[in-house]
Formats: sequence, C-alpha cells, structure tokens
Amino acid sequence: MDVKKRVGIMGGTFNPIHLGHMLAGENACENFDLDEVLFVPSGNVEKKREIIDPKIRISLLGDAIEDNAHFALSTQEVDRKGNAYSYRTVADLKKKNPLTEYYYICGADRLFHWDRWDEPEKLFAEVPILVAPRYNKHTDEELQAKIAELKEKYNANIQIIPMSEVNISSTDIRDKVAQGKSLRYIVHYRVVEDIKKYKLFLPDEE
Ligand code: ATP
Ligand code: MG
Repeated sequence: MDVKKRVGIMGGTFNPIHLGHMLAGENACENFDLDEVLFVPSGNVEKKREIIDPKIRISLLGDAIEDNAHFALSTQEVDRKGNAYSYRTVADLKKKNPLTEYYYICGADRLFHWDRWDEPEKLFAEVPILVAPRYNKHTDEELQAKIAELKEKYNANIQIIPMSEVNISSTDIRDKVAQGKSLRYIVHYRVVEDIKKYKLFLPDEE
C-alpha cells in the first residue's frame, strides 16, 4: 500500500524560536498524525532592525529541535533570493516530494494578519492549515468567525490544533533579554545558552 509521509510546514521568523513554536509543532504532530514538522525560517525580507541574521536564527532553531526526531529544518526561504511567499515554499516542496502529504502549521494570529507580501488564498489552495490558538491575540468567537469567513471566501481547509494556548512570543523573549530577565522554561535551554553566547537582543550601547 502506498502510505504517504505526512509533513507539517511551519514558517516564521523564529527571532528567536521559543516553546510556543515547538509546542504547536509537537501538538500538530500528535493530533494530526504527522511524521515530521518542518520549520522554515524566513529570510530577512523586511529590513527590520530587530530581526537577527538568518544564519544565527537557523543556528538557534537547529539547537532547539535537535533532540526531537520529528522536527526538521529547511533553509529554502533563506537561500532563495527576494521575497519568499509561503504558498511558493509549499508548492516547491510538493513538487519535490510528490508522495508527501503537506499541511501548513501557523498560529491563529496569522489568520488575522497575513504578512503584507503573502497571498493567503494561494496557500489555502495548496494545503490544509493547522492553526494553533493564541487567545491573547483574539477571542475564540473571533477565531471561529475568521475560520468560517476564510472557508466561505477561499474554500480554505482550516483545523484548530487541540492544545492549550501557549502565551509566549518572540517579542516577549526579546523584551525579557533587554530587561535582563530569565528565559528559563520559555525557550529550549540550548537557546538560552546561544542567546548569551552570541549576545543577542541586548539594547544598543550608547
Ligand atoms: P514575534 O513576536 O516576533 O512576531 P512570534 O512569537 O509571533 O514572534 P513568529 O516567528 O512570528 O513568532 O511565528 C512563527 C509562527 O509561529 C506563526 O505562524 C505564529 O503565529 C506561530 N506562533 C508563534 N508563537 C506562537 C505561540 N505561542 N502559540 C502558537 N503559535 C505561535
Ligand atoms: Mg509573529
């Protein structure tokens, strides 16, 4: 029998990767029977000052996921010149691995605010979306209404990952570092070490 490999793609800046990303991946894996979660960090398309070098983001990501046999990393968006659209990342992977069944994993905030350059309708046409709740950014009613709207408008296949909300963001992590606060238990311990080692996210010296 032709059993397809099932892979969830998770795009993001991962500036830096935290346990919210990893728990979304792990829960998607478990609840939707995925063989693998593929983390795909974006390149520095926007010249936002606070987004650290892709090489360093990749190094932290690699350290964070190394001990999970279901987690993998793709540098395809960083390697590509110019903007990387999520739908193109997915389409490229589907073309390369026609026997794999792909899903796209994201946090619920992305359903409300797609990146400016992204074209979500093209992504919806490519893959089912597995969405992790982020109730600090929306209510459950708003999320249900958004999913219904996207289903109606684009025929999107969107399913909520059954998991507890994990109230962590990379913005929080960067703020904590700047304030000298502990990152224990909110990022992988190796990422804590990396952030110290590379002196990341510290406020500019005057
Ligand atoms: P930032 O605060 O810089 O925007 P972030 O924590 O939102 O960072 P991203 O790299 O922007 O992290 O997110 C990558 C993907 O992971 C997005 O789909 C986002 O919605 C999702 N995500 C991030 N944090 C969480 C979380 N705590 N729970 C569920 N999904 C999350
Ligand atoms: Mg974000």
